[in-house]
Amino acid sequence: MSSTENGAIAAIPATQHNHFNDDGLLRYGRMLIDGEWVDAASGETFEALYPGSGTTIARVALGGTGDVDRAVAAARRALEGSWSKINGAERGRILWKIADLMEQHIDELAELETLNNGKPILESRRVDLPQSIACFRYYAGWAGKATGETIEPDARANALAFTLREPVGVCGQIIPWNFPIQMATWKIAPALACGNTVVIKPAEQTSLSILRLGELLLEAGVPAGVVNIVTGYGHTAGAAMVAHPGIDKIAFTGSVEVGKIIMREAASSLKKVTLELGGKSPNIVFADADLEMAAKVALGGIFFNQGQMCTAGSRILIQRSARDRFMETLSTRAAKMTTGDPLDPKTRMGSLVSQDQMERVLGYIGKGREEGATLVAGGERVGTSGYFVQPTVFDAVTSEMTIAQEEIFGPVASVLTFEDEADAVRIANDSRFGLAAGVWTGSVGTALRTARALKAGTVWVNTYNMTDNALPFGGYKESGFGRELGAAALDMYTQTKTVWVDLA
Ligand code: NAP
Ligand code: MG
Repeated sequence: MSSTENGAIAAIPATQHNHFNDDGLLRYGRMLIDGEWVDAASGETFEALYPGSGTTIARVALGGTGDVDRAVAAARRALEGSWSKINGAERGRILWKIADLMEQHIDELAELETLNNGKPILESRRVDLPQSIACFRYYAGWAGKATGETIEPDARANALAFTLREPVGVCGQIIPWNFPIQMATWKIAPALACGNTVVIKPAEQTSLSILRLGELLLEAGVPAGVVNIVTGYGHTAGAAMVAHPGIDKIAFTGSVEVGKIIMREAASSLKKVTLELGGKSPNIVFADADLEMAAKVALGGIFFNQGQMCTAGSRILIQRSARDRFMETLSTRAAKMTTGDPLDPKTRMGSLVSQDQMERVLGYIGKGREEGATLVAGGERVGTSGYFVQPTVFDAVTSEMTIAQEEIFGPVASVLTFEDEADAVRIANDSRFGLAAGVWTGSVGTALRTARALKAGTVWVNTYNMTDNALPFGGYKESGFGRELGAAALDMYTQTKTVWVDLA
């Protein structure tokens, strides 16, 4: 392993855990269908990379329509067979066991996540994995507890009526690359708690930690066919899932563009669809806020995970009277943030996920310059190996600029200035997105009025980017619909049946 001056790695990195075979590739790459590890029916594979150096680290089965067919058939058999005979308490025990196994292998899973995604090992180990483990435990507690009610009909009906909460059925889950194992967990855990079966497709860039999770699911006692992992591309394997008549629901997290395609395509079989899409979240700093703290947390809010977050606080709105003081802290702190070797525990900012994503982000930085925003920190690629981009801050951004409207999904903050509360709310809501927002103020009244006025699925007051497995998460406007996490996810993974019993 050789390090370049920015800390990026030039070849396959030395790892703490032995994930590699003798040929220098990771041992993961086959798909999980019906409890078996299988190649694609076509025999084709595609490459998985380590973003820190761009090196190929695995060959992954290229799933297609035939593989999706097999996975759906297995999920259907399990739904009606083995899984239907396992009650809620037992499903809860299995979910808890999954969490225990993940905890036992936490260092290995965290390293694998960083190897395939490029995010700092510190984040994988301290955030992504612990939150995923806690998510399986949270839904272990809910297993079998999404129950129906006895409801009194009109007395003249002389009937007893009650509802059953039944699983939706075979759930197709299509997930992105920014938090691979966590996004898989947010979808698999509630689906299994409610008695569904799953066909999940990881993003093409990041299959590996999810394949390893598949091994742990089997070890925990998840019966064959209950969770099937089909690796491959969105426009082939993903599209085949969306079109498949044997899939009852699609849960999707990713871009608005693909979300719209999925909704259109799902109409032909009238599948249920839940969409968790992008954002351009405003982080509003009023002059009476703790400006030091606001600046510090706002930087975390945009640069965590290299800015590749649907909730990234990518529009920082600062009140004019505090602008100079705030910008001084923000730009000084931003300039001190550096990228480094993702596998080094001291690194706070790693690599973007892919060359494509890096080019996309650099393209937006170019747009920001062209459209007249003022670059106050960063703005460049770091080194020539891997996909590292400097933490970048643009000041003097206005709402019409591309970098104030489009989701960049990278380490780029756009700072806009506002005059008063009404102006802040107007600018904040001037977006097609509505996933999240932040409000920084010393006034309870300002905080609560603004929180109510913002069109967003989550509003953070004097903090940013907090999530909890018990709290619902999802979007307003083009950020999607449906809620993940919390009890809200149980509604997404069950359907209600009313039963009338005539008493005459
Ligand atoms: P994407 O294309 O929306 O990918 C999300 C998932 O959808 C992936 O598993 C993808 O497979 C799959 N997919 C793509 N086309 C599909 C289709 N026609 N039918 C069914 N599934 C399909 O996102 P991306 O291309 O990875 O990233 C592009 C941009 O999307 C980012 O720059 C960012 O702005 C946004 N994004 C948002 C989120 C979020 O959490 N809100 C996450 C990721 C990306 P493939 O991986 O094979 O394409
Ligand atoms: Mg894609």
